[in-house]
Amino acid sequence: MDLDFTEAELHRYSRHILLQEVGATGQAKLRAARVLIIGAGGLGSPLALYLAAAGVGTIGLVDDDTLELSNLQRQVAHSTARIGRNKAESAAETLAALNPGVRVEIHARRMDAAAAQELIPRYDLVCDGTDNFATRFLLGDACHLLGRPLVSAAVLRFEGQLSIFAGHDGVHPCHRCLHPEPPPPGLVPTCSEAGVLGAVTGVMGTLQATEVLKLILGIGDPLRGRLLIWDALDARFRTVRLKRDPGCALCGPGATIRDLSAHAAPPALVCTA
Ligand SMILES: [Zn+2]
Repeated sequence: MDLDFTEAELHRYSRHILLQEVGATGQAKLRAARVLIIGAGGLGSPLALYLAAAGVGTIGLVDDDTLELSNLQRQVAHSTARIGRNKAESAAETLAALNPGVRVEIHARRMDAAAAQELIPRYDLVCDGTDNFATRFLLGDACHLLGRPLVSAAVLRFEGQLSIFAGHDGVHPCHRCLHPEPPPPGLVPTCSEAGVLGAVTGVMGTLQATEVLKLILGIGDPLRGRLLIWDALDARFRTVRLKRDPGCALCGPGATIRDLSAHAAPPALVCTA
């Protein structure tokens, strides 16, 4: 591991390096890490900002969506002047201004099965910041089949959920152990239908960033096999233990999902939380 840091880097990351659990070695791990973020929206904004500020060396941003006025209530990596621009490009500009030492790879494209096959193997771990069951299930299946952990957050109204799916390790549950099949279309509303308190996406995206940093650094107890649920109105967090399902179609011994052919049709337009 390359432990050479410039004076400016030592200064920039001094509060990290002071932490016994991080130190120069941990900071070098962050610099070497490659993280893929799907959706530069309400979750992806704080997530990408904190990963860039932390010095995560390479951040990939996937988003084919265009910035709209109604996004700015929560998607804080953008600005009013950038309405009409691609969100991955807009967020990349903000990250570059925050930390020019970080490499941001812009993927201004739809996350479909082809993009998943091509992009996911190029990164160490994947973060889901989308608000669309088709994309969630595609990412859950793709990350399992391609052997990458999926740090997955979701928000709606005043509530947020977070977990890490890592069924490929043979120990922890995958996303289909929790949700075997997508709900019927229209059953679960999206943020664009039901609304979301902007700050709730900020909290959940920041928790997602914290779990990513823990995974890269190899510290603490990451949320593998657990689901964190936050009710903002009650100001209460709770954690539910998730079990690996022996009958799971993705990670069980009789698994029937062996490729992404079920995701051949491109998902509908992604609303990024
Ligand atoms: Zn499973």
